[in-house]
Amino acid sequence: MDRFAHYGWPFFEPRHLELARQAEAWSLENLGHAHGEDADAVCKRLVQDLGCAGYLRYCVTDAPDVRSIALLREVFAYHAGLADFAFVMQGLGSGPIGLAGSSELKAKYLRKAAEGEAIPAFALSEPEAGSDVQAMTTTARRAGSGWVLEGTKTWISNGGIADFYVVFAKAEEGISAFVVDAADVDASERIDIVAPHPMATLKLRGAKGALLGEPGQGFKLAMRNLDIFRTTVAAAATGFARRAIAEALKRSTGRKLFGQKLSDFQMTQAKLADMATRIEAAALLTYKSAWTKDRNQRVTRDAAMAKMFATESAQQVVDDAVQICGGLGVTRGHPVERLYREVRALRIYEGATEVQKLIIARELLRS
Ligand SMILES: Cc1cc2nc3c(=O)[nH]c(=O)nc-3n(C[C@H](O)[C@H](O)[C@H](O)COP(=O)(O)OP(=O)(O)OC[C@H]3O[C@@H](n4cnc5c(N)ncnc54)[C@H](O)[C@@H]3O)c2cc1C
Repeated sequence: MDRFAHYGWPFFEPRHLELARQAEAWSLENLGHAHGEDADAVCKRLVQDLGCAGYLRYCVTDAPDVRSIALLREVFAYHAGLADFAFVMQGLGSGPIGLAGSSELKAKYLRKAAEGEAIPAFALSEPEAGSDVQAMTTTARRAGSGWVLEGTKTWISNGGIADFYVVFAKAEEGISAFVVDAADVDASERIDIVAPHPMATLKLRGAKGALLGEPGQGFKLAMRNLDIFRTTVAAAATGFARRAIAEALKRSTGRKLFGQKLSDFQMTQAKLADMATRIEAAALLTYKSAWTKDRNQRVTRDAAMAKMFATESAQQVVDDAVQICGGLGVTRGHPVERLYREVRALRIYEGATEVQKLIIARELLRS
């Protein structure tokens, strides 16, 4: 399956194919270490490497090209889930500063994030406020010329290794966004998840926060940030799915059973056909959404469709690949075993599938 054929679609420009090929060559050369046991150490090194190679500038920027972020996620996810994670978190975590920060805050944080010298995190979720963001209880109050935050955030990616956190908290005016330096955050309670990546619960006790934008505008800011990055979750899912079908093709054409190749059986062929079709449809939705966003058009419905369909499809494609690989597919360290663990969380974070359905239906009913 040609992983670069879709760059011929009208959603792309020649520079996108060039970037994808560059990232592919870079990944083949540099991601050998990206599957290590110590996720903190691997991520820190990946951030530095991605910064040195210039890739972080695509997601830490005032003017994101969503197609570039998406295609980079697709390529990195194909090779290593943690590389995709390290890449996108630099953008997701610093995005609100780019969108609403003062020039002073931008100067303080963005260059370092873009060069891989500082690691950001995006802290929205709380123990009692995940999908229901408005239920958050973390508070922000004015203290002199600044702000002080109190509360608990959880499932925060990069928690424990981040240098700064964009934290959402309720002020008198409503949900507001702040930058908090890591020294002011207790991130010692780490969370171990199915596909390990740095994650923690954050305790904020009198933490000093620098306001981003206007008080009360934090929810809108979080959604603007997610409007950029939600489509790219679909791209990462597509990268996982492409790797899964590549592994399934390799195994099914090499494995002999009952006197023929596994790929000679029609039941295997039916599975491969379904997998390929799901991937193609997911990629179409993903890059249509990215292209729409890059044309400055409203993307709420398209991003929700892409995220929902691509993540659900990738889960199915990866599961089919595990089935085709048989015992090998569940053997610790095999690429499809890794994918099986890596793909699961994508259906939950940045809006679970059920939330995407609500968004799509709301848009439909509104029109
Ligand atoms: C790997 C990973 C990384 C994450 N990184 C971050 C991060 O960096 N920053 C951050 O702030 N948060 C992060 N999160 C948190 C994530 O955003 C939340 O897990 C997500 O919003 C869901 O919230 P919840 O876990 O509290 O589930 P709940 O809100 O309790 O929902 C549970 C389930 O209910 C279902 N559901 C939700 N809404 C509805 C509905 N309206 N109708 C029917 N069913 C519904 C969904 O299936 C959902 O999975 C991360 C989570 C994971 C798993």
